Amino acid sequence: MYDIIIIGAGPAGLTSALYAIRARKKVLILESKAYGGQIINASKIENYPGIESISGFDYATNLYNQVTKLGAEIKYESVIRVESDKTVITNNNQYKAKAIIIATGAENRKLNIEHEIELIGKGVSYCATCDGNFYKDKIVAINGGGNTALDDALYLSDIAKQVYLIHRRDEFRGENYYLEEIRHKKNIKLVLNTNIIALNGNNRLESITIRDNKNNIKQLKIDGLFIAIGQVPNNKIFTNIVDIDEYGYIKSLDGVHTKTDGIYVAGDTRVKDLRQLTTAVSDGSIAATIAIKEMKGSN
Ligand code: NAP
Repeated sequence: MYDIIIIGAGPAGLTSALYAIRARKKVLILESKAYGGQIINASKIENYPGIESISGFDYATNLYNQVTKLGAEIKYESVIRVESDKTVITNNNQYKAKAIIIATGAENRKLNIEHEIELIGKGVSYCATCDGNFYKDKIVAINGGGNTALDDALYLSDIAKQVYLIHRRDEFRGENYYLEEIRHKKNIKLVLNTNIIALNGNNRLESITIRDNKNNIKQLKIDGLFIAIGQVPNNKIFTNIVDIDEYGYIKSLDGVHTKTDGIYVAGDTRVKDLRQLTTAVSDGSIAATIAIKEMKGSN
C-alpha cells in the first residue's frame, strides 16, 4: 500500500514526488517510457526562473536524481487501468494507494500521412536533440511553428548544412526571441503557408512533397524530417475516473482535483491555458500538497 501513486515521470510527476517524499509519504512513480517527459528533448531551457540556461536532459536528470535520492520508488510499467478505489493496474502488477496523481503529459502529434510511422528512424524523427547528430552537413526540414520547432531549427542549424522550417501559416506560435535568432542564421530557410502532403523514399526518407496555400505543389529533397507539431494527451484509459475535453485533456475542477475523490491531475495532461515547465512543476507541487492534506483529513 502506497500513500501516493504518481503516474508519469515528467516534470509534473517528479515534482509531485519531491513534495510527497519530503512530507515523508510512501511514493511510487509509474512510468511507461523514460523519465523526463517532453522537456528532456529541449536543447535549451532559458525561461525557467532562476536558471539562466540548462539543457532539457540535464534539467530532467537533476530532478530525477533529486527525487530518487530522497527515496521515491520508480517502476517502468504501463498503466492499463485505474479504479476509483485507487487501485492501479499495470501490464505487470496491481498497486493500491490512498491518492493518485495523474501526470501523464502528452505525446508527439503525428502528421498522419502515409509512411510516417514506417520511416521513423529512417529519416523521420520527433526529437532533434536525440537524432540531430545523424544529420551532420546534411539537409533537414522541421515542421511546425511552436517553440519546439523554432528551438529545433536553431539546434539543427549548427549541425546540418541546410535547414528548412516548414510551417502551415505565416505567423509563428513560438516566441519572437527564437525567431530573431533564426533570422540571423544563414542556413535556415522559412517555408511558410505550407503543408507536407507526402513522404517519399524507399525504406528511407529521400524527399517530401509540400503544398502551399496557393496550391503549388513541389518536392523538396531532404535527408531528415523533424516533426514538431505539438503534443496530444493519451487519457482514454482514465475515462472511468476523470472527464476529458474534446482534445483529450483531463478536466480538473480547480486545477488539481478530478471528479473522483483522491484522484488528482497535474501538468500538461490537464485542461489549462499555458503548458510550460513552470506550470508543470507548479501543478505537481500543488497536487501533492493538496493530496497529502486531504489524505490527513480523511484518516
Ligand atoms: P505548440 O505550441 O502546440 O505548436 C505546435 C505547432 O505545430 C503550431 O505552430 C501548429 O500550427 C503546428 N501544427 C499543429 N498541428 C499541425 C499539423 N497537423 N500540421 C502542421 N502543423 C501543425 O507545440 P510545441 O511547439 O511542441 O510546444 C508545446 C509547449 O511546450 C508550448 O507551450 C511551448 O511554449 C513549450 N515549449 C517551450 C520550450 C522552451 O521554453 N524552451 C521549448 C519547447 C516547447 P498553428 O500555429 O497553425 O496552430
